[in-house]
Parts: sequence; structure tokens; C-alpha cells
Amino acid sequence: VNEFDLIRTYFAAQSLARPDVQIGIGDDAAIVRPPPGTETVITTDVLVEGVHFFPDVDPAALGHKSLAVNLSDLAAMGAAPAWFLLNLTLPEPKASWLQALAKGMFALACEHQMQLIGGDTSRGPLAIGITAIGLVPDGTRLLRSGARPGDAICVTGALGDAALALAARRGKLSLRAEEIAAANERLDRPVPRVRAGMQLRDLASSAIDVSDGLLADLGHVLEASAVGARLTLQTIPLSSVYRAHLATIGWGYALAGGDDYELCVTIPRDNLERAKRSTEQNNLSLHVIGEIVPGHGIEIFDGAGQRYQPAGKGYNHFAAG
Ligand code: ADP
Ligand code: MG
Repeated sequence: VNEFDLIRTYFAAQSLARPDVQIGIGDDAAIVRPPPGTETVITTDVLVEGVHFFPDVDPAALGHKSLAVNLSDLAAMGAAPAWFLLNLTLPEPKASWLQALAKGMFALACEHQMQLIGGDTSRGPLAIGITAIGLVPDGTRLLRSGARPGDAICVTGALGDAALALAARRGKLSLRAEEIAAANERLDRPVPRVRAGMQLRDLASSAIDVSDGLLADLGHVLEASAVGARLTLQTIPLSSVYRAHLATIGWGYALAGGDDYELCVTIPRDNLERAKRSTEQNNLSLHVIGEIVPGHGIEIFDGAGQRYQPAGKGYNHFAAG
């Protein structure tokens, strides 16, 4: 038996079996049957060793995160997760490592009733690519382009902790051991806001997930919607760890750090109370951080009403330097 046949065996072992999967792993391609009245939402994301994760990463955390980043994109469209495909390239298969990867990935998949229906496996530098497919009732999907002046700008949770963890690892700031553990949890095991996205699809005017930093991702919404934004710095939610260091580190990690995987949504004022109540039902709060205005670009004001000038705009893989 070829070692890559064994890999397929690991990944064919998911216990979940959805009734809408007609043909899963094992044939040349999978066949699924989306229910009538639904639209199919498809996204893909690849994580590459040395670019998106450290070589010594915990494989269970890597399995979780590689699926979580895709679920976060489905959440930002308001979609219910359904199926996924896994493309794996690795230098040499190691049984214990693969088992841990599968365990971390399937735990999150089962939590969201998501079935692995296929993939591809090859020798090569370590990279994990996942394609995730979700469903929304016809015409209800959330887009980046629906924000309108007067809408409240909201985020589903604290920002900046993943960037804080990364900075601590790179020796750019020093945190206590328990602070590092808390921040690392946000970096290594992000919780995609899937239910919040589904609950907000009838209430929000636009949505995006914050993966490259709040300013960069909100900027995409503003561009797609042809509007501007005003933010109030002090209303941006921070963790207690972040808050304890705010005086020395400033707002940069929360505004421009990456890997938060919270949702940033715009909500028409009439829907705001209902939106808050519905997110609270799944133990999240919707934090209002600003307002959509006519025009373009982002203006940030501090508590005293003074303009605040951010240093950077977010992570860009192709930025110079
Ligand atoms: P083919 O050569 O026809 O592309 P493969 O031998 O690559 O088929 O794959 C056989 C079956 O195993 C297919 O159903 C494929 O989707 C599945 N598969 C291969 N690699 C993976 C993987 N990493 N995760 C899940 N399914 C996989
Ligand atoms: Mg193949």
C-alpha cells in the first residue's frame, strides 16, 4: 500500500454522513444535492508552512485553523456550512502528525455538520488548502457591497490578540506566560462566527470577516459599497490582556493586525437592537464601533473627538518591504 493511500484512509474516516451527499470520498469526484431554494456559497483558502504557520505548530491546531479560516469566509456570507474538500501537500507522511491534524479538523467540522467529500494528496512542501461549501436560502446572502450611510458598523468580538501573540513570538513585546497562552489561543484556534453570520443575514446590510486587519477589511466593504466610515477608537473591543498593555502598545494591533476572524458587519439602525439580541443568543456581543457615512475612506476619532492617525493599514502579502 502506497503511503498516500494511507492518508486518504485517515481522511475518509470522518464519522459525519450528511444525507445530501450522494457520492463522497472514493470516486473520481463527489456529488452533492443542494436543497431546492438554496444558493451554494464556495470559498477556498490555503495555509502554507513558513508563511501562515510555524514549522513546529501543533498539528491539531493547524487542522482546526485551516478549516476555521474557510468557515469564517462562509460566516461572512451568512452561509450554513455543508461540505469541504482538502488538498494536502506534505514532504513525508507521519502517522501521528496526520492523525492529530485530522482530529483537530474533524472536531470543528462535526461541530458545524460539515462533511469532507474529497481532496487531493501530493508530496511537496507542507501546505493545506481547503475548499468549503455552504448554503443560504435564495437571495439572503450577505455581501460586501450593501453598506449605506447611517448604518452602524459592528464587530463580533475583541480584535488584535492574534497579532499580539505573533508579536510576542517574534520578541517584539513581552507578555506574561498566561497572557501569551490566552493570545496564542486566539492565533492558533480562531472560532469562526458561523452562527452569528447566519443570524445576521436578514439584519445586516453588509459583512466581511476580519482576517487582514480591521482597517484593511472594513476598507474592502467601503470600496464595494462606495461609502466612507467614521470609527470611535475607544469603542473597539479589546481583550483584558490587550487592555492591560494598551498604554505601551497602542491601538495598532487591533486596527491593523491580522488573523482575528471576527465578523465586521454594517447594520441599519432599525435592525440594531434585534441584531444585538440575536448575537447574544450565542454568547457573542455585537460591538458598535462606528458609522457608515457618505464619501470614502476611514476617519478615526478618539474619545476627546480628536482625529487619530493610524500607522499601518493591515497585512498585505505583496506589500513592498
Ligand atoms: P484521482 O486520481 O481520480 O484524482 P485520487 O486517488 O487522488 O483520485 O483520490 C481518490 C479519492 O480520495 C477521491 O475521492 C478523492 O477526493 C479522495 N482524496 C484524496 N486525497 C484526499 C484528501 N487529502 N482528503 C480527502 N479526500 C481525499
Ligand atoms: Mg487526484
